[in-house]
Amino acid sequence: MIQLLIKTAICISFYIIGAYATTDILRLLKGHPVSVGNSDCFCESCGCKLTLRQQIPIFSYLSSQGKCRNCGHPVSPGNFILEVLFTTVFVLAAVITGFRPVIWPFCVLFYEAVKLFCIIRYGKRGRELAKGLFFSLLGNAVNFSLVGVLFFFLALVC
Ligand SMILES: [Zn+2]
Repeated sequence: MIQLLIKTAICISFYIIGAYATTDILRLLKGHPVSVGNSDCFCESCGCKLTLRQQIPIFSYLSSQGKCRNCGHPVSPGNFILEVLFTTVFVLAAVITGFRPVIWPFCVLFYEAVKLFCIIRYGKRGRELAKGLFFSLLGNAVNFSLVGVLFFFLALVC
């Protein structure tokens, strides 16, 4: 029972990391108006602040049909793609391997590799890049440490 709870918590953490990726990776890229250290989410077109309900990963994008509820401007599909990509890859990898601890470094490497790929492919932001990278790595360290703790507890109860 406790194993199932921890496994569920790990999957939820992966889902949250997938959501976090959009405020992390996309904001390191060229031309993005918001910097990484900013904890709020905004519409890239009209600048309106998104409510918590509009920030539910994957589902908010689907229910709003990929448009800003305020101005109707299309939301960058990159948001949706990153959310789906990370949640699917992480959860699948964990389920297929039976939640082995090796999944943890795999997820960290995969995440950083995608970040690096996006920066190389789409260009890095000029202004505040160093600050952005600092907040990005700090945020990743916190997120993945939490997942690491969950894997540790899972190993303990197995
Ligand atoms: Zn808008």
